[in-house]
Amino acid sequence: MNICAKDVIATEDSHILQVYKRLPVVLVRGEGSRIFDANGREYIDLLSGIGVASLGHSHSGIADAIAAQAGELLHTSNLYFHPFQGEVAKRLSRLSGLSRAFFCNSGTEAVEACLKFSRRYWHSQGDLERTSIIALKGAFHGRTFGSLSVTSGASYRNPFEPLLPHVSFVSPEDPDQVRLSITDRTASIIIEPIQGEGGIRPLPESTAAAIAERCASTGTLLISDEVQCGLGRTGKPFHAHTLGLTPDLMPLGKSLGGGVPIGVALVNQKVASSVTYGDHGSTYGGNLLACRAALVFLTTLEDGLMNHVVAAGERLKNGLKVLASKTDTLHEVRGSGLMLGVDTTPDIADRVVETALQCGLLINRTAGTVIRFLPPLNIKDVDIDEALSRFRKALTLAGATIGTD
Ligand code: PLP
Repeated sequence: MNICAKDVIATEDSHILQVYKRLPVVLVRGEGSRIFDANGREYIDLLSGIGVASLGHSHSGIADAIAAQAGELLHTSNLYFHPFQGEVAKRLSRLSGLSRAFFCNSGTEAVEACLKFSRRYWHSQGDLERTSIIALKGAFHGRTFGSLSVTSGASYRNPFEPLLPHVSFVSPEDPDQVRLSITDRTASIIIEPIQGEGGIRPLPESTAAAIAERCASTGTLLISDEVQCGLGRTGKPFHAHTLGLTPDLMPLGKSLGGGVPIGVALVNQKVASSVTYGDHGSTYGGNLLACRAALVFLTTLEDGLMNHVVAAGERLKNGLKVLASKTDTLHEVRGSGLMLGVDTTPDIADRVVETALQCGLLINRTAGTVIRFLPPLNIKDVDIDEALSRFRKALTLAGATIGTD
C-alpha cells in the first residue's frame, strides 16, 4: 500500500481529537527492534510503544498465533468459556503467586479493577467505612476516573476534578511519612515498584520495608501496579518481589499482549473470596485473540527471556553511564533491566527526542527532564550498540557537548 505521510497527518489534524502531541512520522512496518516509516526510513525502537511490543515488531510467534486464531474464532464475550483464558491465568499465577485473574483490555482498566476489588474486600468484611487509599507522589496509574484519582500529577487531574474521595498522597522518599499514613482505617495502598511516567524512579528500599511492615500490621491491602515494570521488564517476573513486597493485588498490561491490547488484575485468594458473580465484568476482556498473544509472550518469558533482559539491560545502562560521564547534559542513569531513564537538563529533554528521531531512534521524555528507554525485551546487542551511537549523535545535534573517548 502506498502511504503518503503528509495526507495521513492532514487527515488526523482535521478529524482526531487533539489529545496527543505526535512527532511528525507515520510508522508503517516493524521487524524486531527496528521500525520503518512511510518513506522507508528505519528507526531503532527503544520505546516499543511505551513498553508494549515486548517481543519486538512482527514477532513470528505472535504473528502466527493471532493469524491462526483470526481464522478460527476471535471473540466470544465472557458469557462462555474458551480454551486460553484459564491457561494465561494459570501461568500468571505461577509467576506471581496470586491465585486468580480478572481480564480486561488496558492498564487503566486493570487498576480500576484492583481499586474496585479492594473496596469490595472491605465491604465483604462489613467495614463499609474502610475506603481510604494511600497513593504515592509522582505516581501514574492511568486516565480513567479511579486510576486518575490515584495518579498524582496536577495536569492530569485538575481538569477532571472532583475525583474519588479519601485518597491521600505521600512521598515515596519519606518512609516515616509512609509508615504513619498507613493505619487500620486504610483500605489499600497503591504503588509502582518503579515509577514509569514519574521519571523511572525506583521505590526506595526503606519505603518498601515500611509498607511491608504496616500492611502486615494493619491488614491494609497492597496493590502493586506492575503495568509498566512487571512481566520481565526488570529481569524478574515482578519487581515488588525484588523489593521484598507481597502484593495482594497486581494490575498488569502493556508487555503481556506483545502489542495486542490486554490488561489483567491479579488478586490473592483472600481478595478473590470476597468477589462474587456480577461484581465486575468486561465485554472484550481476555478474548481469544488477546489470550493467544499472551500465551506466546508468557512462553517466551519463561524460556530464558529474563536472563536476556538482565544482560541487555546492563549493556544499555553501561553505555548510557559512559555517555553520561562525558557530558554535563546527562545526569543520573536510573532503573533496572530494560526499564531505564536518564535525567537531563530541562532545556534539552524535548530537543533530544526530536534529534533522536532525525538520527533514527525512538525514545521519549517523561516527568519533564527524563529520557525513557523501554526497548523490546528481546532487543539484540547489535541494536543496543547502534542505538547508543545514534543517541550520542542526537545529543550533539541537540546542543550537548560530549567529551572524546
Ligand atoms: N499503570 C502504569 C504504571 C502505567 O505506566 C500505565 C500507562 O503508562 C498505566 C497504569 C495505564 O495503562 P494504559 O495506558 O494501558 O491504560
